[in-house]
Amino acid sequence: MTVTVRAPAKINLHLGVGAPRPDGFHPLVTAYHAVGLCDDVTVADADTWSVHTKLPDWIDPGLLPADGENIVDRAAELLAGFHGVPRRGLVSVVKAIPVAGGLAGGSADAAAALVALDRLWDLHTSDTDLLRLAAQLGSDVPFSLVGGTALGTGRGELVTPLTDRGTWWWVVVPSPEGLSTPRVYRHFDELVPDAPERPPSADEVVAALASGDPYLLAAALHNDLELAAVDLRPDLGRLLERGEEVGALRGLVSGSGPTCVFLCEGADHAREVAGALTGPEHPVVLTTMGPVAGAHLVEYA
Ligand code: ATP
Repeated sequence: MTVTVRAPAKINLHLGVGAPRPDGFHPLVTAYHAVGLCDDVTVADADTWSVHTKLPDWIDPGLLPADGENIVDRAAELLAGFHGVPRRGLVSVVKAIPVAGGLAGGSADAAAALVALDRLWDLHTSDTDLLRLAAQLGSDVPFSLVGGTALGTGRGELVTPLTDRGTWWWVVVPSPEGLSTPRVYRHFDELVPDAPERPPSADEVVAALASGDPYLLAAALHNDLELAAVDLRPDLGRLLERGEEVGALRGLVSGSGPTCVFLCEGADHAREVAGALTGPEHPVVLTTMGPVAGAHLVEYA
């Protein structure tokens, strides 16, 4: 049997970050948004366990972890352990989501692997248990299962769907180099030593999403990590300015970066902005839209 599950990248439309908790995690209030830039995870029957990853030529393979340390290995270990079954399968991960890009590509693969292996191994894991296992793999993994547009609280793992009346068009500019999420959070702590215990609320973005108006959403986009990401990578600040100069409604660092995203009025506008941003410094510029579904089955044979 072969099962393919597709899972989307995420953008944080609002990322409010509070002071670190005693367990070291930062409390978050975030508005997650799934966009149509997706990885596919295919699993097939086998007597042993192996994971192969395919990358487009514009993603640096050096950013991927060593064999055996892919988040897909951990997802499978966790699911197999939960049910007391052996971890067996031939796994192929076809990536289109930049690695270490602030788009939760690893989380997408983990969510896709949970859904695909649940089917391959005929486990019928409940949604509640899948979400619980997902949260153990990473803060963004539950959202990668749910998709759409959703509020994330706790350390991001508590996910509630939001009313979203828009179809939002984005230009996505990946960076050839990754940026480590823990490094960006450490820099945030240095730059904002007096962060509030309770993260800033997402009310403005929530209202803009319900209105469906891209101008309101552009004005409401908010990322507390942007200051730290841009301080570590000043080129991102220049890119954000350039995107707005060429007509994007608003530029934003995605999550902890370094990918930058630009909200546009519609598909044609996104293509224009993408064309204007493409050049020797940014040879790969993508357009996409959201919201799209979370991890879902696309092929079953
Ligand atoms: P985060 O979820 O921490 O915000 P990110 O979205 O910036 O991360 P990811 O692409 O999820 O970036 O990668 C984060 C780290 O996870 C990288 O160091 C990467 O080597 C590792 N990793 C493990 N498995 C995968 C995978 N299947 N795809 C991408 N990265 C992976």
